[in-house]
Amino acid sequence: MRLTFNGITKKYKAKCALNGFSAVLSEGIHALLGPNGAGKSTLMNILAGLITPTDGNIELDGEDTAVMDRRFRDILGFLPQEPGFYPSFTGAELMRYFAVLKGQKRPQERIDELLEFVNLTADRNRKYGEYSGGMKRRLGIAVALLNEPKILILDEPTAGLDPKERIRLRNILSRIGRNKIILMATHIVSDVETIADSVILLKSGEVIQSGSVSEVCKSISGKVWNKATDLAEAESYVLSHSNAVMIKHESSAILRIVSKKGSEKPFPDAISAEPTLEDVYMYYFDENSPSGDGL
Ligand code: ADP
Repeated sequence: MRLTFNGITKKYKAKCALNGFSAVLSEGIHALLGPNGAGKSTLMNILAGLITPTDGNIELDGEDTAVMDRRFRDILGFLPQEPGFYPSFTGAELMRYFAVLKGQKRPQERIDELLEFVNLTADRNRKYGEYSGGMKRRLGIAVALLNEPKILILDEPTAGLDPKERIRLRNILSRIGRNKIILMATHIVSDVETIADSVILLKSGEVIQSGSVSEVCKSISGKVWNKATDLAEAESYVLSHSNAVMIKHESSAILRIVSKKGSEKPFPDAISAEPTLEDVYMYYFDENSPSGDGL
């Protein structure tokens, strides 16, 4: 399967929410990483057919998805951040409700299987309104999987979850991603590092980097530095520099600096470090650097 975005642009009057977005996705988990306002929701809503682009199109194996219309929607699953499920329905009732809506002929077997898959069998008869955030998200995934979609869109699937639920959800997504195209918007770097096959960095409606996590990290190679120092110096440095973080080691500290001034050492005794995705995020999305390509 190949999902191809050809120059997708979306304008709202003077505001350009998405500017010529192009990408080719195959089976796996693809993370859309970017700060608020980057255009992530706009792109997902266009893929879901909820809004039409001002320009550009999307193709699945060479066929325009707007022309496929219903046939495309039939193979699409969408998990919005707030699915708006009825709180007084139980998990099992919600599954039945959506299974009927999606026209499933013999839904019970599929419902049981999906509730088991997302680990909600024991809680199937509890009201949705009583579910924890993680349980709600897992039920949302089960609902989105009802029609066995080939393409799954997830909007911030792990936002607001505790670490244990986040891991549980990541495991579920990793299993699903083996034979589907998953497009996942997130601003949680650790989600991307642990489960994404590829990452697309989006900023102000434009792709600024894309590729595997290691490829994207390589894009800032030579720009990340570590400096051993004491706690007081590290604390004062990070207060006045938004491109630095402090890593505490008992009574001492390591200052980690993402330099935007080329490969120049920020301190004579700084040591070059391997970039991580956290560093990449800091480099491209530093709030104090609107252009993202250097101070
Ligand atoms: P993200 O999901 O990455 O936070 P969005 O896709 O929601 O970003 O928004 C991208 C940009 O488009 C933002 O600047 C936002 O204010 C603008 N935008 C989104 N929807 C509309 C709309 N209906 N009318 C006007 N501007 C919009």
